[in-house]
Amino acid sequence: MDNDLTRTYIGRKSCGCVVFAMVDEPNANQQSKRELAKEIASCIRQGLTIESVTVDYVRNMQTMGCKCDKPKQDKPQLKFKVQ
Ligand SMILES: [Zn+2]
Repeated sequence: MDNDLTRTYIGRKSCGCVVFAMVDEPNANQQSKRELAKEIASCIRQGLTIESVTVDYVRNMQTMGCKCDKPKQDKPQLKFKVQ
């Protein structure tokens, strides 16, 4: 079993955060391969950089996701003007 060398595609945002990871199963059926191609295409449309790495690389990656552009939009900001 050399499962760990299975190719995995990751999508990296311009800030450097990895927000997408999908394993490229060597014995996946045609439909799964199409799904994968579709996912990757949509990542590219979102402006992500696609990289091909090993499953191990993804496992060793402690963080997934991006918090860079979230902070202020989390809560609607209510502004009261006191006059
Ligand atoms: Zn980020």
